[in-house]
Amino acid sequence: MSSARHVIVEGVVQGVGFRPFVYGTANRHRLSGWVRNTAIGVEIEVEGEAVGIHGFLDDLERRAPPLARIEKIESTDITPRGRSGFRIDPSADEGGFLPVSADVATCDACLGDVHDPANRRFRYPFTNCTNCGPRFTIVRSIPYDRPNTTMAGFRMCAACQREYDDPADRRFHAEPNACPECGPALELVDAARRPIDGDPLALTSRLLAAGEIVAIKGIGGFHLACDARKAAAVRRLRRRKEREGKPFALMAATLDEVQRISLVTGEEQRLLESPARPIVILRERADSGIAPSVAHPLRELGIMLPYSPLHHLLFAEGECPRALVLTSGNRAGEPIARDEAEALERLSDIADALLLHDRPIEVRCDDSVTRVAAGDELPIRRSRGYAPYPVRLPFEAPPLLACGADLKTTICVARGRHAFLSPHVGDLEDADTWRSYSQMVAHMEAVFRIRPEAIVHDLHPDYLSTRFATEAATGAPRVAVQHHHAHVASCMAEHGLDGEVIGVAFDGTGYGTDGTVWGGEFLVAGYASFRRAGHLGTVAMPGGARAIREPFRMAFAHARHAGIGIDLPVSAEEIEAIEWQIARGVNAPLTSSIGRLFDAVASLAGVRHRALYEGQAAMELEARVAPGEFGAYPFPIDGRGLAAGWIADPRPLVTAVVEDRRRGVAPAIIAARFHESVARLVAEMCGRIREETELSRVVLGGGVFQNATLLGRTLELLRREAFDSFRHRIVPPNDAGIALGQAAIAAARLRG
Ligand code: ZN
Ligand code: ZN
Ligand code: FE
Repeated sequence: MSSARHVIVEGVVQGVGFRPFVYGTANRHRLSGWVRNTAIGVEIEVEGEAVGIHGFLDDLERRAPPLARIEKIESTDITPRGRSGFRIDPSADEGGFLPVSADVATCDACLGDVHDPANRRFRYPFTNCTNCGPRFTIVRSIPYDRPNTTMAGFRMCAACQREYDDPADRRFHAEPNACPECGPALELVDAARRPIDGDPLALTSRLLAAGEIVAIKGIGGFHLACDARKAAAVRRLRRRKEREGKPFALMAATLDEVQRISLVTGEEQRLLESPARPIVILRERADSGIAPSVAHPLRELGIMLPYSPLHHLLFAEGECPRALVLTSGNRAGEPIARDEAEALERLSDIADALLLHDRPIEVRCDDSVTRVAAGDELPIRRSRGYAPYPVRLPFEAPPLLACGADLKTTICVARGRHAFLSPHVGDLEDADTWRSYSQMVAHMEAVFRIRPEAIVHDLHPDYLSTRFATEAATGAPRVAVQHHHAHVASCMAEHGLDGEVIGVAFDGTGYGTDGTVWGGEFLVAGYASFRRAGHLGTVAMPGGARAIREPFRMAFAHARHAGIGIDLPVSAEEIEAIEWQIARGVNAPLTSSIGRLFDAVASLAGVRHRALYEGQAAMELEARVAPGEFGAYPFPIDGRGLAAGWIADPRPLVTAVVEDRRRGVAPAIIAARFHESVARLVAEMCGRIREETELSRVVLGGGVFQNATLLGRTLELLRREAFDSFRHRIVPPNDAGIALGQAAIAAARLRG
């Protein structure tokens, strides 16, 4: 007795080999029918023995191709029609939209091809298939078909076309399919764009081995590469790139090599080897041999494994160093270079040579950065390999654009139950980043076919993202969202929470509703609204933004606030100027920032007085924490109650830190006690808020929760107090995750 089903599969199911998988599965179960791509996913009709249909539906879920992300399978009984054979029908574009796959690291089968001398793709750096290769970075518009990608200009040769047309082939409808006959090619040039004769890969590896700097065009932009074990090369790269302090990322040839450099746990290995191939933050071994200037003085290194055939082939060259610095191809502050013209303009006085290729990059995508903290992934930068996989919203959203914040900016477009976060755009401070921000907005709107019905932005009037939102030529209403509310909503949306929660938002700075600089906030929040239930007591931030680069300013402000004198290794004139700023309230905004308190304590403990980048002092303070020390400083909460806002008083803590320092207590012990104090403050403050509100779900957001020590200990104490706590696992806790929170809040307000 024959039966039939109509099936709709939703999720990331196009460009990932899903139709040939359906074709093969249907044939294996002796079913007839058809499959095709539609605007919302994949549509299937199957007909045959009932047992075959059952097996088919089972396999659809359990054996889906590795890159498919199935969100929903809906199937309904239909009348059998006595069809024979199974076919793949052409796509139906009905003007809808659907998730586009992120870029995916080279699969094992393709690696086999490029290392096999008998294969026609032997040593071909642009090899890919339906299970791997570039995706989001080559998409110009949807549907995801070759003419809508940057591969449009390459006409497939007969052999590639045969693979592309054959449902039984691994390259069936692999849109970037290419080979040495018909696809992109490498070219090595010097800084004046003169071609260097010879094999580009062999020459590049020789240059790197000789300590030279090579700019390498990759998947989402250019990298600058040099031998990570040659101190002189790394120093030269730092000098030329005008990047003083920030750690460089490494690419290691193999997992063995990563383990030679650093300690790797099982979960970290899983992230290193995942198809997204992010940079994973790892603890460095003392005998790693890596040049100290790569990440000095942090004993942490960001390391990734090769993710394109080009990387694998480069490391396969005998001479190539086993560990390369591979940092984004830009000068400090600028966006990563995307095309040849940009690369030559910006990188020719940094790199000794440039390894180019002619496959255009449609959208910039920096390497993603992630780590393991408190037993789970904690993303720091969500870009290549992750973007633009959507976050599923707990409710429907109208089409909208959320503009993000100012630092580490990403944007978010939302529609229905999907929120798509863009790759990392960067800090909106120079004209180039500003231009790439506008391009990213246009690209995201085009790829996801979104015409925003609302534009969402931060409450800060001076953020460039706010200016973008308010100047955008559109009739769509604007929604302004408070920064820390957005941090909390971002984490709520990630976990699909609804209703009210206790939101803890700890970061460097964000614009408050009272015009002061917030950053140590305890909110009672839902999506539509929030109350400020508590915060860190405010102190002056002398010099405004300068205080971010000069933690000693915060040390001075906090000590002065606590009424104690301290010695700082800065000139008397400088102190006098700071004193004057605070006393007169000139360029000394009040702040409740926990990030700035970390800076102050880093300086008071003698760890760092001046920072080369935001958060450096806090990171070094965390790196110092002495394991096993659980002493804490007093951090009292004053009893004004929820209505007026609880105030966490930093003065006794600051006084105790200074006393410890005077007694000669080691910075490592001070660092540990300080972290413990902040974790205890969170548990205690949440306890008070629970007493008044009966809320017991706690959501942790904001860049300060990148601090694994603080995050881990806070979660532990909250668990002990029987709170349900939620931390970021998909979206970064820092400002890169803000746009998601903005989108969720705006959707809720428009709904209400
Ligand atoms: Zn492949
Ligand atoms: Zn070909
Ligand atoms: Fe923030």
